[in-house]
Amino acid sequence: MEKILNYINGELKSPVSGNYFENINPATGNPYSLIADSDEKDVEMAVTAAQEAFKSWSEMPVNKRSHFLLKISNLITENLERLARAETIDNGKPISLSRKVDIPRAASNFEFYATAAMHLSSEAHITHTEAVNYTLRHPMGVAGCISPWNLPLYLFSWKIAPALAAGCTVVAKPSEVTPMTAFLLSELCIKSGLPPGVLNIVHGMGTKAGAAIISHKNIPAISFTGGTKTGEWIARTAAPMFKKLSLELGGKNPNIIFADCNFELAVKTSVQAAFSNQGEICLCGSRIFIEKSLFSKFREAFVQKVKELKPGNPLNEQTRLGAIVSEQHMQKILSYIQLAKDEGGKILTGGNRIFLEGENKNGFFIEPAVIEGLAYDCRTNQEEIFGPVVTLTPFETEEEVLRYANSVVYGLSATVFTENLSRAHRIAAALHSGIVWINCWLLRDLRTPFGGMKQSGIGREGGFEALKFFMEEKNVCVKL
Ligand code: NAD
Repeated sequence: MEKILNYINGELKSPVSGNYFENINPATGNPYSLIADSDEKDVEMAVTAAQEAFKSWSEMPVNKRSHFLLKISNLITENLERLARAETIDNGKPISLSRKVDIPRAASNFEFYATAAMHLSSEAHITHTEAVNYTLRHPMGVAGCISPWNLPLYLFSWKIAPALAAGCTVVAKPSEVTPMTAFLLSELCIKSGLPPGVLNIVHGMGTKAGAAIISHKNIPAISFTGGTKTGEWIARTAAPMFKKLSLELGGKNPNIIFADCNFELAVKTSVQAAFSNQGEICLCGSRIFIEKSLFSKFREAFVQKVKELKPGNPLNEQTRLGAIVSEQHMQKILSYIQLAKDEGGKILTGGNRIFLEGENKNGFFIEPAVIEGLAYDCRTNQEEIFGPVVTLTPFETEEEVLRYANSVVYGLSATVFTENLSRAHRIAAALHSGIVWINCWLLRDLRTPFGGMKQSGIGREGGFEALKFFMEEKNVCVKL
C-alpha cells in the first residue's frame, strides 16, 4: 500500500518510529494507504529544520517569497484532477465538489496570500510636532498549523499560505483522517523548488504528533481549526507558554427564513447550506427556523428537495451527496438521530444508514435527515452533529427567533432569508455570529474576516488579519 510520508527539510521521510496506521476510504470501508505515525521525535526534526530555514526565508524580499507561493498555486491548478480524485477518495466528498470547490480554493489560497503579502503596509502615527511612530511587523518564527478533515487541502492551505507569505516557516499537521492531499502537496512543494525546511508536514495522530506541535517550546504561534473540545485543550496547553493562538472551532448555525423571503431561493439555498459535503462543513445551517405562516409550505418544498438527494459513489460525476468521512463519525451522527427521536423529534425523511451496491457496499452512507417537533434548547438543537441532519422549527417574532438562534454556545455563522432590507440589517446586527449571510450561503470573499464568536473560536482568519496573525508588531517612536 502507498505510504504517506512526512515532509521534513525538503525531503519525504519515514517516521522515526517506523510505524504506520491504515488510511480508510470511507466510500468502500477499506484501507487503501498507510499513514506515518509520527511522534515528538519527528516534530523535533521538523522544528529544527524550520528554525534553520527561518533566517533566509524571513529576510527574503517579499516578492521573491511570493513567487514561490504562486508557483505552488499554479502546480495545484495543473494537478487539479489528480488532487480532486485523491480528496474524494480520502474524504468521501463528491468529486464534483472536490473539482469545483476544494482544490480550486486551495490554489486560490496560495495565490491570494502570495499577492496580499506584497500589499501589506505599515501604519504611521504622527504625534503632533513631537514624534513619528511607525509600526514594524516581524514574522513570528516557526508557526504550527493544524487542520481538520472536512475540507482537507482547502483548510490546510488556508493556514499555511498566510504563514509562509508572512515570512514564517511552518510545521503543519493535516488530519489523520484525510492526510492524502497534504502529502501530495509536499510533492508539489519539492517540485516548486521551495527551499528545504520552509514548510514541514508531519503526519499522525492529533494526540501524539499534534500535541507535540502544540507543546513545542520553539513554536510561538499556533493556528488551529478543528473541534471545540480540542481547541479547549490547545488553549489550556498553550496559554502558560504565552503562545499566540488562532482557533477556528465548531458551529451550530441558525438559518432563519422569514415569510417575506424569496421562497425558491430560500428553499434551494437551505438545502445546500444543510447538506453540502454531507453536512460536514462548520458553516452548515443545521437549525432552520421558519416564520410560522410559511412553515408548512417551506417544510413541504424542503423535504421534497431533500428526498431527491441520494447518497452515491463519490467518484461518480452525478453524485451530490457522498460518504461520511469515517465509521466512527457515521456512528456519532446516527446516535444523534436516535437522540432526536428520544427527545420527541419526528423524522420527516432520511436518517438511516444505507448500503450501496458493488464496491460501495461497506461504505459509510447516511440518507439526509430532516427532523421537526423539537424544542430549540434540546440537545439535538444545541450540540454540533456535523452531518446530514437538520431540524425545522417555527417561530412567530423576530425577538423569539433571535433568542433561539443565539441560544447555543457556538457563534460561527448564520443565514437569513428576507426581502425586507431593514429587517435584514437589524437581524444581522443582533445575531451572535462571526459571519452572517443574507439571502445566500458560503459566498466568500477571501479579504473578509472569517471566524467565530463564543465557543466557535478566537481570532479571525482571512485578508490581512491572517497575515498579521503570523507577525509580531513593534511600535517605533522617533522624537522629532
Ligand atoms: P479535531 O479537533 O478532532 O481535529 C482537528 C485537528 O486537530 C486534526 O488534525 C487532529 O489530528 C488534531 N488534534 C486532535 N487532538 C489534538 C491535540 N490534542 N493536539 C493537537 N492537535 C490535535 O476536529 P475534526 O474532527 O478533525 O474536525 C471537525 C471539527 O472541526 C468540527 O467541530 C468543525 O466544526 C470544526 N471545523 C471548524 C472550522 C472553522 O473554520 N471554524 C472549519 C472546519 C471544521
